[in-house]
Amino acid sequence: TDRTALFPFDNSYSRDLPGFYASAAPTPVAAPALVKVNAALAEELGLDPAALATPEGVEIFAGQRVPPGADPIALAYAGHQFGQFVPQLGDGRAILLGEVVGRNGRRDIQLKGSGPTPFSRRGDGRAALGPVLREYIVSEAMAALGIPTTRALAAVTTGEPILRDRPLPGAVLARVAASHIRIGTYQFFAARKATDAVRQLADYTIARHYPELAGTEQPYLGLLEAVIGRQAALVARWLQMGFIHGVMNTDNMSVSGETIDYGPCAFMDAYDPQTVFSSIDHMGRYAYGNQPDIAHWNLARFAECLVPLFHPEKEQAVAIANAALGTFPARFYGAYHAGLAAKIGLPDADEADVALALDLLSAMIAGKADFTLTFRRLCRAAEDEEALSPVRDLFLDRDAFDAWAARWRARLAATGREGAQIRAGMEQVNPAFVPRNHLVEAVIAAATERGDFAPFEELNTVLATPYADQPNFARYADLPPRMEGYQTFCGT
Ligand code: AMP
Ligand code: MG
Ligand code: MG
Repeated sequence: TDRTALFPFDNSYSRDLPGFYASAAPTPVAAPALVKVNAALAEELGLDPAALATPEGVEIFAGQRVPPGADPIALAYAGHQFGQFVPQLGDGRAILLGEVVGRNGRRDIQLKGSGPTPFSRRGDGRAALGPVLREYIVSEAMAALGIPTTRALAAVTTGEPILRDRPLPGAVLARVAASHIRIGTYQFFAARKATDAVRQLADYTIARHYPELAGTEQPYLGLLEAVIGRQAALVARWLQMGFIHGVMNTDNMSVSGETIDYGPCAFMDAYDPQTVFSSIDHMGRYAYGNQPDIAHWNLARFAECLVPLFHPEKEQAVAIANAALGTFPARFYGAYHAGLAAKIGLPDADEADVALALDLLSAMIAGKADFTLTFRRLCRAAEDEEALSPVRDLFLDRDAFDAWAARWRARLAATGREGAQIRAGMEQVNPAFVPRNHLVEAVIAAATERGDFAPFEELNTVLATPYADQPNFARYADLPPRMEGYQTFCGT
């Protein structure tokens, strides 16, 4: 590779999977300007952050020039959107420039909002500044929280208005992902009865994400089981953080196990499993508490694609798929319950500890208690009984909280562990800072209406160390204002 190249590309997807994509060059824009380069991520990828922030780097991120070694393509995929199968979706506003191999392995470098592709249908291929900043902030916050996710390498503005319900400033996000292979990628070929293509994609996925399966007796069953395992763990992590993905269509579920597609996502304030923010999710299909069932449903769609690879006899192949799918609930609940018990300082998580944690959640629903603050304030109360009072203040029904807290304190005492030690453990799993809706909205308003990116920078900085108390930024951890009827949007 060229030592002076900004990106030492090695493009396995375009090389190994001809017929799985369409060539698609980014469309140049009027006036590119840098919003931010993610220096820490650039270094992790083996890239030079200073070079990425030069005019040459900014031109690449805006789509003015295709860097040496890139092979820009739009990936083909299908997907179930709100339960309805759409045989062709594909990258309508994203272009994969290529792959680089960094410290943590191979990563896609993709431009999102860089103009139309053969898959754009009626869309303009563009993205507005607001959603680009939202994805930058939330995906980086998720990474800092320790949740598998795509990342944000850079954001640029285009100098071009894009037309939504009103004109909005345009922007492009440079997204980094372990890959962009979705359940919908499999569905694209399975729906066309292209079994050889499904097998080819499965072999590629195994080589890239699950190399330990290569050469085993049943690699494709192994692949299904591995993806089930990663998705079960991922959704458990979401629930433990109060995260609502918002649009868990099968085209938005990555086989690598990363969180992908930050359209209408949001963090919940007051705890309520029925919470929905997405403006288009009228039935609450993707409500907070439905996410495990939806993941299971999506994985069944993945299994259907792989069935022809499991066994020559259809009936036996289906039985194999069903047996694997049947492990999802136990895997999900195993991860979810263990994480919940750890959140209340009981990482050994016996049955009674899990029940205690679930009882707190019930009290939080009844008391309309703030999710993030309840758990964070509880950390201090593990060490100091006096510190229970700021927790109980979060509950409308304080008596219910008091009854729970007495049981909890007794259980902690019975562990024989030091309060300080319990507190320290709890503070490692209960963040003080998450990208709350009002914080993200304030950042977007400042940038969009006033061209002021200082709030964006500051919020990113705070969210980079979410488990640390940051007294100078205490206001970011405050109880949020009531946001009755708050909505998030997919395609703006
Ligand atoms: P999403 O809801 O973000 O998962 O997107 C669903 C599909 O719509 C994908 O195929 C996207 O590429 C496509 N899409 C979303 N927004 C646009 C846009 N502005 N222009 C073209 N295609 C788009
Ligand atoms: Mg999508
Ligand atoms: Mg989207």
